Amino acid sequence: MRAESFRRVGVLTARDLLYLVPHRYEDASTVTPIASLDVGMDATIVGRVISKGVLPTRKGLRIFQAVIRDATGMIEVAWPGQPYLDRVIHKDSMLLVAGPVRFFHGRQLQPREYVDLGDAADDGFESGRVLAVYPATEGLTFKTIRSIVQTNLPQLLASVSEPLPAELLRVAGVPRLPDALRLVHAPTSLAEAESGRARLAYEELLFMQILRRRAHAIARTRRRGITFENRRQVTSHLRRELPFELTGAQTRVIREIVADMTSPRRMHRLLQGDVGSGKTIVALFSAMLALENGYQAALMAPTELLAEQHQTTATLLLAPLGITPLLVTGGMTARERGAAAARMASEQTLLVIGTHALVQESTTFARLGLAIIDEQHRFGVEHRAALSAKGEAPDVLLLSATPIPRSLALTMYGDLDVSTLDERPPGRQPVTTVLRPESARERVLGFVDAELRKGRQAYIVYPVIEESEKTDLKAATTMYERLSTGPLAAHRLALLHGRMSADERDATMRRFRDGEIAALVATTVIEVGIDVANATVMLVEHPERFGLSQLHQLRGRVGRGAEQSWCILLGSYGPDSRQRLELFAGTDDGFEIASADLRLRGMGDLFGQQQSGEAAFRIADMVRDEHLLMPAREAAEKLLQADPELRDQAHAPLRKALSDRFPRALELFRVG
Ligand code: ADP
Ligand code: MG
Repeated sequence: MRAESFRRVGVLTARDLLYLVPHRYEDASTVTPIASLDVGMDATIVGRVISKGVLPTRKGLRIFQAVIRDATGMIEVAWPGQPYLDRVIHKDSMLLVAGPVRFFHGRQLQPREYVDLGDAADDGFESGRVLAVYPATEGLTFKTIRSIVQTNLPQLLASVSEPLPAELLRVAGVPRLPDALRLVHAPTSLAEAESGRARLAYEELLFMQILRRRAHAIARTRRRGITFENRRQVTSHLRRELPFELTGAQTRVIREIVADMTSPRRMHRLLQGDVGSGKTIVALFSAMLALENGYQAALMAPTELLAEQHQTTATLLLAPLGITPLLVTGGMTARERGAAAARMASEQTLLVIGTHALVQESTTFARLGLAIIDEQHRFGVEHRAALSAKGEAPDVLLLSATPIPRSLALTMYGDLDVSTLDERPPGRQPVTTVLRPESARERVLGFVDAELRKGRQAYIVYPVIEESEKTDLKAATTMYERLSTGPLAAHRLALLHGRMSADERDATMRRFRDGEIAALVATTVIEVGIDVANATVMLVEHPERFGLSQLHQLRGRVGRGAEQSWCILLGSYGPDSRQRLELFAGTDDGFEIASADLRLRGMGDLFGQQQSGEAAFRIADMVRDEHLLMPAREAAEKLLQADPELRDQAHAPLRKALSDRFPRALELFRVG
């Protein structure tokens, strides 16, 4: 059971255990005696649970409360909506609790985080040692992790040696690996802990830089591509026939792409732009450049519905040019498939739009010159590679709706060129975003009801699919039942979540698009670029559970037609969340939101559930560790300049560490 829990947090080996680092630390200097807590303070306390219980409130919320006492006094701590804690937190346990102090029938601490120290008599924490706080996960409490790590630390450390050249460590100003790991797990001061963490972050940044550089170097040597010619035939025709003017940003980005495609180098470009910035049309222009050179272009989207949507748009826009794009999806009949396959294998100038049906083994392209991948982070590296493998070094254009700051894009995608659409087409009605407390639920649902009665459509989004014992979160399935028999009984609702099959999901979305369904009760599966102009309400419950970029994607689902649209964030949450959500409500700029997400919650939230594995750092944080980035870049450059394939015997430990951390890394170093 424990092994299974460890596996779930990615710990398979002793080494993994060492790298399971504490996410924060507490020491005596950060702990406030309970007697000196004042309303308005943000404090950390340590004390024993002297009484506890679950209180119901009038609004149906259940609150777990505990009274905690230290040598100086006692205070009440309340966890709204988490009655299950009554089974988890025991009387007489030592708790460390951090959060703001409020006034509520006396002083009360609102826990942002708590750590159950168990029977802390042997812990030594009170006598001033630094306490390493590990992120607890299901089935693995903080106590378990800590006791396993602490008991085995000397043994584990004995097997660790330093893989990096001493000179690099000196320049970056970080300790050697065995020291760093000891400092991280058993620091005697907060400064020690940070210095250990910085060493691990540096290593991660360095490895990432090494891989990027190597990938880039390989790509450069192999990157002879197609030299398209800018004939200004089909592309100019498309520009004349467009029902709107291109934005300045679109024009600039198209120019960047044309320059790439007409050079002998192979294009490998990421086009990023906020939701609604008009990436599709840019993609179509590049496709037309391929076509006018007698090549095929393929546009791959992550769902059938999106592929169909692109097909509809493209068919409409390209009709005046006499071009009919071909749609290829898994849902086609065998006969349609056969016909499509025949066209792909024979027509040299063709735009093909599809899902990953496009990269199936049996699919062949007569002359693929350009591969375009929409919502690129939804595909694995292998799918992206598979599409470009369908041609002979076709140019590659990746589209992404999660805009990130340029410096970060360069770090994350060092082997890509980046184009950015930083302007939105004119004439769009801005979406009004409002925060509403739990007490406004009835009014909010009344408003949704009224919009639906006007014939509009709505999305209602929940953070989880099903309710569970662990939390009091409202869930899509139960709320679907409740809404369809209660406040929204007059309308046709449908449920949509990630545990339904892709076919079911597509069928439901299609009925929503066609207006047969008035409101979708869903999880974030709707977040991908679907375009239903008649939808005017995006209602999100428990908004504090979502990353800001994720909320921004959700908000981008409405405001696509002429009518005024609303994004309503419904729920009650702590002051930190409020601040985040107010920031979100106050801006419509995806870049600003992505930066805020990065600043406030780190990389993890940026891509929500579908976070791309490549983007993930375990320890490094692009904002906090910015000062390590430069040394890491320079070190990687120097290393690879001297020893491009890391074959030098002196670099053997580095090679080994690299492949321990990134199992597929050595593939990049095996060539030559
Ligand atoms: P996204 O970047 O989110 O993929 P789309 O390409 O789907 O955005 O474009 C969003 C909407 O804006 C589409 O309906 C599209 O037709 C429209 N659009 C794109 N470019 C322009 C423009 N220059 N002027 C007016 N409308 C545009
Ligand atoms: Mg799109």
